Amino acid sequence: MRAVFLAAALAAAPAAARDIAFTFDDLPAHSALPPGVTRLQVARETIAALKAAGVPQVYGFINGVKLIQEPGTDAVLKAWRAAGFPLGNHGWAHLGLSKIDEGTFESELLQNQPILRSLSGRTDWRWFRFPFLDEAYGDPAKRAASRAWLAQHGYRIAAVTASFGDYAFNEPYARCVAKGDTAAIAELEQAYLDAASDSIRLSETEEKAQFGRTPPDILLMHLGAFDGHMLPRLLALYKANGFRFVTLEAAAKDPANVGLVDPKLPPLAGRALSDAQSGARLQHIATFCQ
Ligand SMILES: [Zn+2]
Repeated sequence: MRAVFLAAALAAAPAAARDIAFTFDDLPAHSALPPGVTRLQVARETIAALKAAGVPQVYGFINGVKLIQEPGTDAVLKAWRAAGFPLGNHGWAHLGLSKIDEGTFESELLQNQPILRSLSGRTDWRWFRFPFLDEAYGDPAKRAASRAWLAQHGYRIAAVTASFGDYAFNEPYARCVAKGDTAAIAELEQAYLDAASDSIRLSETEEKAQFGRTPPDILLMHLGAFDGHMLPRLLALYKANGFRFVTLEAAAKDPANVGLVDPKLPPLAGRALSDAQSGARLQHIATFCQ
C-alpha cells in the first residue's frame, strides 16, 4: 500500500524547480500584424496572459523611433506601465553595435531616455537590451567601450540566457491569417511550442554542463501578434516543465548571471541559445503562406 502511494507521489511531483524571467523586446511595435489587429490589442493580450499566469515585473524594452513611425503607439507603453510592468532601453532605432560607432551607440541610448524617464516613475529603467543581442563580441575594444559607457551611466545589461526564436513566427502568422490558412496556422502553433520545448532542454543541458545546475533563465520574447496569441499556452508549457516565474532583477542576482549583467565586470562569452535543429525549424516556418 505504502509503495503504491509513494509511486503516485513521485509521478505527481513536478520536475526540479527552475526559475525564469520573461522579458519582451521591441515595444511598442514588433514585426507584422494580421489584418485588423492593432498594436494595443497585441499589448493587451500579452499583458492579460502574463497577469493570469502571475508573471511578476515583466520588463519591456523600447525603441523610441516606433512612436514616430507608428503614431499612437505610446498607448502600448502606457498600457504596459499601467499593468505595473517596467520599461527598459532597447536603443532608439534598434541598431546592432557591430554596425555603429561609439557616438551612435550613445545617442541610441540617450534618445530613449526622456521617454523612459517620463513613463517610469520610481521603477528602474536603466536596463539595456542590446538590439540583435549584438554586443560586438568580435570587436573587444568596441565591446569594452560600450560596457564602460553603460557602467558610467548606471545601466545593467539585460542579458539573455534562453531564446527559442519567437520573433520568427510573427511574419508568417500575419501572412497566414491574411490568407485564412488555418492548417498552416495550426502548424505554426505546434512549431512554436516545439521550439520552446527544445529551448527548455537545450538550456538545461548547457547550464548543467557549465554550472552543474540550472541557474535562473532570462528568456527573450517579443511583443508580436503571434507571441500574444500563443502566450497562454507558452506560459502553461513552462509551468508544466517545472518553471517558476521570477523578475529580471531576481534572475540577474544569481552568480551564474551576474557576469552577464554587470558591465563593470570582465566581459563573458554569450550563452548558446540555439542549435542546428532549431535553426532549420525557423527557416522552415519563414516560408509559410508566401
Ligand atoms: Zn529587438
